[in-house]
Amino acid sequence: MGEFRIYNTMSHQLEDFIPGGVRKNSLHEYPAVTIYSCGPTVYNHAHIGNFRAYMFSDLLRRYLKYRGYKVNHAMNITDVDDKTIAGSIKEGIPLSEYTERYTKIFFDDLATLNIEAVEHNPRATDSIDAMDDIINKLDAKGLVYEQQGSLYFSIAKFPQYGKLSRLDTREIKSGARYDADEYKKDDARDFALWKATTEKEPSWTIKRGTGRPGWHIECSAMIRKIFGGTIDIHTGGVDLIFPHHENEIAQSEAAYNEKFVRYWLHLEHLLVEGTKMSKSLGNFYTLEDLLNKGYSPRAIRHLLMSAHYRKQLNFTLDGLKASAVALDKIDNFIHRVKAVSGEGPVSEKIISASKNLREAFLAVMDNDLNISGATGSLFEYIREMNVCADTGEVSRTGAEHILETLSDLDRVFGFIFFPAPEKADPDAARFDQMVIDRKNAKASKNFAEADRIRDALLAEGIILEDGKDGTRWKRKK
Ligand code: AMP
Ligand code: ZN
Repeated sequence: MGEFRIYNTMSHQLEDFIPGGVRKNSLHEYPAVTIYSCGPTVYNHAHIGNFRAYMFSDLLRRYLKYRGYKVNHAMNITDVDDKTIAGSIKEGIPLSEYTERYTKIFFDDLATLNIEAVEHNPRATDSIDAMDDIINKLDAKGLVYEQQGSLYFSIAKFPQYGKLSRLDTREIKSGARYDADEYKKDDARDFALWKATTEKEPSWTIKRGTGRPGWHIECSAMIRKIFGGTIDIHTGGVDLIFPHHENEIAQSEAAYNEKFVRYWLHLEHLLVEGTKMSKSLGNFYTLEDLLNKGYSPRAIRHLLMSAHYRKQLNFTLDGLKASAVALDKIDNFIHRVKAVSGEGPVSEKIISASKNLREAFLAVMDNDLNISGATGSLFEYIREMNVCADTGEVSRTGAEHILETLSDLDRVFGFIFFPAPEKADPDAARFDQMVIDRKNAKASKNFAEADRIRDALLAEGIILEDGKDGTRWKRKK
């Protein structure tokens, strides 16, 4: 096996991936890969731009596991920030009740999209003790100052500030403060570690006083609490590089005097007509919106996985339709392969095509997770195997071999054999019977009856596909 190479935002280069930072002789000697992915702020439904981010971290963990690494992955739930507090106050309910509602919807959406559960899902509000520890360590080093009840990190006293986002190109306004969790402008200011609260707002008491966390310190604290020290990978969208990840680095490295993260991985945005899909612009779809329009979670997964993570992906409904067509090709192929009945060994052609596919898959994925290359190889394989089926070269054992190859790769793709099958059709048994009746009618040369059955199915929106391996019904799209 070659090396897994991945693009590190910190170095602006492709780097060999070495878990734990020390090269070992064999794969099983590596410690579990520690990953932290910035998760959702649970103040309403996530949109599918957000899901591109979680689909990317899913692809990453699945591929690491496929390659034989163990993974130890955390994705946080941001359950206290400006927006969650504003939302709960508006509805007049406790913050925890408000955020639990959207946390549950978030986990349901992940499962619908076949995104794997990760090892840890820390809530920010469960890590106040770790925030207290960071603030006390920074305070002891003279990096914290108070202004009107809020605590700020003094970026002028951390000379490396800006190394991730190459801040030298931006203006540093040390001593100027920013209180909102998200900066509106591209300039660096001292950021709030801990914020003063009003009476209406929830608050916690730490050594330096009563208030509530700033957004950035939450991730630093959760990482420290779960992993203890340097982690291998930190992921998020490119919009988080500055200031969020820059601020995480400043807090964590200044507090603990050790490297915070070895590999910074950032994915590009999902766009709508050339602009970032976002809540504030209103140009977004939630998963529910798309499911209500009749699109399948499987097609959404396929679409979000289709482009390289460092390339922008333009979202269109036509793109989703194209994904459905691609998945149909896969389904038709699987159906065909499952139906073969011939005896005989696995043909040489099948063995070598399967081996080539696995090798090509590893080679392209090792190159910075080139998923579009991997999907290209998959469809090339299906094309070749369809030719084999045309010429009767696929026996039952050959079919098994093909299906095993596909399930092996599906540990990473997660859209070939979708575990949440599109809802089983309630009329499936009746349609199956009509297909059999039609076949019998044809066999006894009662073509009028065969046509009547076909038309009756059509009237219910069912089309028939006559193939070499029998007839299959499907719902018109
Ligand atoms: P937020 O809930 O806004 O903090 O975002 C959660 C995650 O979704 C972050 O990693 C963001 O970078 C990411 N994200 C937000 N909008 C998009 C988008 N249009 N495309 C891709 N990722 C996004
Ligand atoms: Zn974060």
